[in-house]
Amino acid sequence: MSKQFDVLVIGGGPGGYVAAIRAAQLGFKTACCESNPYADPKGEPRLGGTCLNVGCIPSKALLHTSHVFEEAAHGFEAQGISVGTPKIDVAKMMTRKNGIVDQLTGGIKGLFKKNKVTLINGHGSFVKQVADGWELKVGEETVVAKQVIVATGSKARHLPNIPVDNKIVCDNVGALDINAVPKKLAIIGAGVIGLEMGSVWRRLGSEVTVLEAMPDFLAAADQDIAKEALKLLTKQGLKINLGVKIGDVKVTKKGVSLAYTDKDGAEQKLDADRLIVSVGRVPNTDGLNAEAVGLKLNERGMIEVDEHCRSNLPGVWAVGDVVRGPMLAHKAMEEAVMVAEVMAGQAGHCNFDTVPWIIYTAPEIAWVGKTEQQLKAEGVAYKAGKIPFAFNGRAMGMAAPEGFVKMLACAKTDRILGVHIIGASASELIAEAVVTMEFGGASEDLARICHGHPTMSEAVHEAALACDKRPLHA
Ligand code: FAD
Repeated sequence: MSKQFDVLVIGGGPGGYVAAIRAAQLGFKTACCESNPYADPKGEPRLGGTCLNVGCIPSKALLHTSHVFEEAAHGFEAQGISVGTPKIDVAKMMTRKNGIVDQLTGGIKGLFKKNKVTLINGHGSFVKQVADGWELKVGEETVVAKQVIVATGSKARHLPNIPVDNKIVCDNVGALDINAVPKKLAIIGAGVIGLEMGSVWRRLGSEVTVLEAMPDFLAAADQDIAKEALKLLTKQGLKINLGVKIGDVKVTKKGVSLAYTDKDGAEQKLDADRLIVSVGRVPNTDGLNAEAVGLKLNERGMIEVDEHCRSNLPGVWAVGDVVRGPMLAHKAMEEAVMVAEVMAGQAGHCNFDTVPWIIYTAPEIAWVGKTEQQLKAEGVAYKAGKIPFAFNGRAMGMAAPEGFVKMLACAKTDRILGVHIIGASASELIAEAVVTMEFGGASEDLARICHGHPTMSEAVHEAALACDKRPLHA
């Protein structure tokens, strides 16, 4: 006997759980299945996917603790506060992090109950198309659903010949659960995850070396921001080596021994207690039985979808990391809401041009829209306003004068095309730029809006004024 639903969502991460909640709110009889790699000790499924279990949330908890630790170690003295030499209790830090994960993942179960979403514990895969939708296997059960939303997310990309044991050689899962501060930590990959994890352990006392194959640092970011970030992170003590080629990696009794060729072609050796491999993520499409039912994947193994996240199969949709676009939780959640609303006959909307990018280093890095190099390549005439936080009273008061806000606006229409921020609270400040761009706003719109004083957001205001060459405080 099969279970019947209007909608079955495969995967309980931010794409999946949000799709399930919104579909249920819109009146669909909805189930969500989760294959449960993050089961709690009782074997109960933990919802929230990568983001809540081994991604966004635990990493930000560790970033916060390590930031406070570093402040206490190096930032308090200049403000007249003496606390002696701080000590870190890694086990306690991890317990706090795990507590946050437990609370939030449990909260989603509560939301499922509140919204009457049925949670099925098990791996979902397609069986065949049937008269009223799709037949799927979830664990041992047979489920028939009129519509299916695939939200199976992604997993860490591993490198050939570097087996990950999540003890000595870690991907994101092990990197968020290291039980003692490594004396020496090597990281392969200077992307968002590598820089955030590198920052955590450097702040706590590790000597961190980051090895990156690309010759450019943060190639997707505006290069002004990337240069400033490289300068500041290097000054903090992260050793970032670009343009390297990784050779043999051996796990030894003491840790790992890495051979690599540096950007000048010289052979180098690096010994470390631990290694974090953070070289991108691959979509979870194996095990879906995609090929047998004709679900089309692209050359990177992602499910092919249109701008409304429709796959090539009728009634089958896909959202989040398993489809094209940035692998970000908020992008997954936007797509999820859009799909549920389109299924319900509503307009559904996801503006991919205003998805913000954020890196939670200190200072934080955040941007939305086009970079200066993209505008140049596209031959768009633009004007730029750039304001350092060193001119901002609040930033000075907070002992966070590093970084700047850079705004790019169309030279003809003044419409804002991109905003790039490196500085304290950049993750929050970028929201103003996202809202303005979503409404098609111009730099003059922001320039004419009253901003509270003293706030970091005054730097965004000043950058808008600077687009018209009339900053008041710079
Ligand atoms: P996932 O979160 O990966 O969830 C997919 C779920 O589907 C998983 O629970 C999986 O078990 C389940 N599943 C897979 N296959 C099946 C199947 N066949 N049947 C049943 N269940 C299945 N993004 C941000 O926006 N901000 C951040 O600060 C941020 N920090 C990050 C830090 C780290 C260390 C990492 C690794 C990622 C971070 N991300 C961040 C990315 C973010 O976690 C992902 O973009 C987001 O989780 C994608 O959501 P999703 O629902 O598409 O997939």
